[in-house]
Amino acid sequence: MFERVEVFYRPASVREAVRLLAGGKGRARIVAGGTDLVVDGDPTARALIDITHSGLAYIRKQGGGCAIGAATTMAELEESRTILALGGGILARAAATCGSIQIRGVATVGGNLANGSPAADLVTPLLVLDAVVVVADAKGRRKLPIAEYLAARGTKGLRQSLLVEVTAPRPLGRRCGWSFQKLGRTALDISVVNVAAGLQVDGAGRIQWARVALGAVAPTAIRAGATEENLQGRTLDAEAIAQAAEGVMREVSPISDVRASAAYRREMCRVLTRRALEECAAQAGCAL
Ligand SMILES: Cc1cc2nc3c(=O)[nH]c(=O)nc-3n(C[C@H](O)[C@H](O)[C@H](O)COP(=O)(O)OP(=O)(O)OC[C@H]3O[C@@H](n4cnc5c(N)ncnc54)[C@H](O)[C@@H]3O)c2cc1C
Repeated sequence: MFERVEVFYRPASVREAVRLLAGGKGRARIVAGGTDLVVDGDPTARALIDITHSGLAYIRKQGGGCAIGAATTMAELEESRTILALGGGILARAAATCGSIQIRGVATVGGNLANGSPAADLVTPLLVLDAVVVVADAKGRRKLPIAEYLAARGTKGLRQSLLVEVTAPRPLGRRCGWSFQKLGRTALDISVVNVAAGLQVDGAGRIQWARVALGAVAPTAIRAGATEENLQGRTLDAEAIAQAAEGVMREVSPISDVRASAAYRREMCRVLTRRALEECAAQAGCAL
């Protein structure tokens, strides 16, 4: 699995972790919880850099929103009052669905994003929350909207980067609704499809802001941009929800694999989007 690893580092700071990564000449790998890295193995790795003692396990309130350190575990997200209060708690809900309690005790938010699985459960709620990813390399730190980070993750520019933290902006005001929906084979399995949604309506029940994100139905988790645009300005009612649920089926490009056929995934996009928007509507005080 890691037969050719020669050295295991446990840096005490981000600066040291970045220095070790840069010095690894492309053969050093970050390890956090190890729940993806150790399962997958990597015969090209020569050094492992354990970031669990680098000061990256934190959840902080920040300018009305919050900052989450990359080494924060799923279990910590699930239990955090700050995360439970953010966007109706959709990130906490997603974290609570990630494998067993043993997995959630070590699996981290940074690992979930950096691993790049289209089925990673934290990604869709973070897309809906307009999250920003902070990365660091030998040249310094920079911020990327999460969709940009997902698109660039495997490229040369980011391969030698440490994901430092994820930030979520100040939540919206009144009459919002939020939802995270996951379909897995069992409660412990990764997603066949997952959907996160968020919206805000005005006093007349018209949609002022909408986000719909889908996981496991494209090479990375995606936002359903056309569906979001179509929702904008509409009265949030059963017809708008049914049309949005139909619409997302045209925006996804699922594959068939051991977990599900493409056709089943596409249909489940419709079902989960409808459920998500119905939950949002109820929270936003809209009768359907
Ligand atoms: C039995 C089982 C069940 C699972 N169930 C789910 C599930 O339901 N939902 C789900 O989403 N996932 C699931 N997973 C996958 C996994 O637990 C998550 O993706 C987890 O969040 C990975 O985090 P980690 O800290 O263990 O990452 P690691 O395995 O330590 O790292 C994963 C990858 O990310 C890189 N990396 C880690 N941290 C950083 C960083 N800060 N900066 C840059 N690169 C970094 C590593 O180099 C590696 O390439 C499951 C895994 C197992 C084994």
